[in-house]
Amino acid sequence: MTNEEVLKTYEDTHALLKGHFRLSSGRHSDRYLQSALVLQYPWIAEKLCQTLAEKVRPLGAQMVLSPAMGGLFVGHELARALKVKSIFTERNKDTDAMELRRGFTVQPGDKFFAVEDIITTAKSIKESIKVLEDMGAKLVGVGCLIDRTGGEVDKLFNVPVKALASLKVESWEEADCPLCKQGLPVVKPGSRAKF
Ligand SMILES: [Zn+2]
Repeated sequence: MTNEEVLKTYEDTHALLKGHFRLSSGRHSDRYLQSALVLQYPWIAEKLCQTLAEKVRPLGAQMVLSPAMGGLFVGHELARALKVKSIFTERNKDTDAMELRRGFTVQPGDKFFAVEDIITTAKSIKESIKVLEDMGAKLVGVGCLIDRTGGEVDKLFNVPVKALASLKVESWEEADCPLCKQGLPVVKPGSRAKF
């Protein structure tokens, strides 16, 4: 699948919306991405992750790691395509720390690939990676379906980064928003709206 085909798949499933949005950060944007809406179709998730797997296979990972919740389905489908284990970290509600729970085990020297649905700042995935590295496992690469940095994602890691598609999403403070200046009504993603 090409970059355009991946983004078209997101658009067709309404996982990529164009309009005028107020993001959870409070900033305004002309795009909204919600991978859960494309991944709710398992056969599409399978196809996306098979394509990603072709890029990841040469790295020789023995397991795929993803941060819950956003990374779970990508991690699972990617691991299926690679025929390796899929494990995940989750955030402790009390301490806010990423933890490996549910009996998942990692041995020193295990080679793992870390994956997210979308990478913007890489905060969650970096926390997940640290959990496994602290246990002695070795990171061999990082991946995502959509690199939202528009090609800057390579600079966030010192291992190979495999993204299925790249998209630069602009956002602005409300006072600077060009769409507000055009008088276009702003919608909160998730609310019912006409696109
Ligand atoms: Zn605006």
